Amino acid sequence: MGRKAVKFGGTSLCDAAQMKKAAEIVLSDAERQIIVVSAPGKRTPKDEKITDLLIRMDVAKTLSERKKIFSIVCDRFDTMIKMLSLPIDFREEYADILENFKGDALISRGEYFCARIFAALLGFTFVDASDAIFFQKDGSLDVAKTRAHFHTWMVQEKHIVLPGFYGSDFDGKIKVFPRGGSDITGAIAADAGDASLYENFTDVNGFLLADPKIVSDPKTVPVLSYHALRRLSSMGASVFHADAVLPLYEKKIPVLIRNTNLPEGAFTTVLPQKKDRSVDGIVGQKGYTLFSVYAPSVGENIDDFQRLLSLFGTYTSFVYSTPRTIDACGFLVRNEDVASEKETIIQKIYEEFHAHQVVLTENMALLSIIGEYSSSQNAGLLLQTMDEIGAEALLLDGGADRLGITVGFDADYLQDLIRRLYGKLEKIFFDV
Ligand code: ASP
Repeated sequence: MGRKAVKFGGTSLCDAAQMKKAAEIVLSDAERQIIVVSAPGKRTPKDEKITDLLIRMDVAKTLSERKKIFSIVCDRFDTMIKMLSLPIDFREEYADILENFKGDALISRGEYFCARIFAALLGFTFVDASDAIFFQKDGSLDVAKTRAHFHTWMVQEKHIVLPGFYGSDFDGKIKVFPRGGSDITGAIAADAGDASLYENFTDVNGFLLADPKIVSDPKTVPVLSYHALRRLSSMGASVFHADAVLPLYEKKIPVLIRNTNLPEGAFTTVLPQKKDRSVDGIVGQKGYTLFSVYAPSVGENIDDFQRLLSLFGTYTSFVYSTPRTIDACGFLVRNEDVASEKETIIQKIYEEFHAHQVVLTENMALLSIIGEYSSSQNAGLLLQTMDEIGAEALLLDGGADRLGITVGFDADYLQDLIRRLYGKLEKIFFDV
């Protein structure tokens, strides 16, 4: 089939036993040639991720606190090395980091050490992400330079391990991606290393039809389009980073999302496009607030709308929806973005826009049913189910991409609604 890029998430590499499982997966297929790793994640629910420890260490107020946190990090790596009987010793590097590393350079060390250990375990070549992933001055990826370096690596070495989550800035300094960014590194590596497939190993059986914390044992969605995956991820489905499909668009590389703990179990295939008519997921999120501004013609006046939008833009970079009618204009925002500023915003709207009234609808949840080619059926089902439990629709949005229907309602109904919808959709699409 050709070369495969494979990424393992933090729980897949959280300790020596998990590392062995991941190594078995890699070594069972000679085409698994480009391996990308996250930093070790939590071993138990109360444990701390290595990246979280490094972030805490970076902002530590005293040297003794910094040392204390770093010793937990070092211990975790040293225990893995010992349990895996690897001939590696990081003591000199630890001392250098403790003295000299801060910011992105420090935060990236979880992936760095994890990749060093995993490369030694596999017998593959370690390639530092700062020699393979490059950013431009504006912060975007330098695709040409990254592809050129990868090409050289792949000619020289057949099998490599690369740390996820960071690369080199235009002036050679380490720069990290957003949280969860090792998925993005995996995709960049798949593109730049000319892989025919990107396998993303995590701790669940691919994308699930609904959140397993709400629905027990939800079914795996067999096939998703790139775009549906972005919609689901942007609404809180945290299996795969929404931006990680972007580097795959040009070469249309498929992604398999699989479970390290159950490699032969159900998985999700993500393709540029999907042809069958099925449901892709039910996602819901609490924590939205709707500001409704009432003033004559405010909903028709583009100038008012622009000024209101820039007012909200000073508090948040994300306005989810802006429903408008002739004399009213709504702004749906994340509650946490405006929490302490609500009164100030309302006051400014009264003063600057001569609003008759500003109404706040708080404690809102949004729920989307994402499904290619099935919007009207899903809309019917959603409204009928809301009616059954007495949840009033405070907002209804067909989505600019027509890929799913989103509804806003009192957040107290969220879990019940998801469970009921799951029951109905599982029957329709999985024939149970
Ligand atoms: N270690 C980073 C994080 O915790 C990146 C990743 O795991 O993808 O966000």
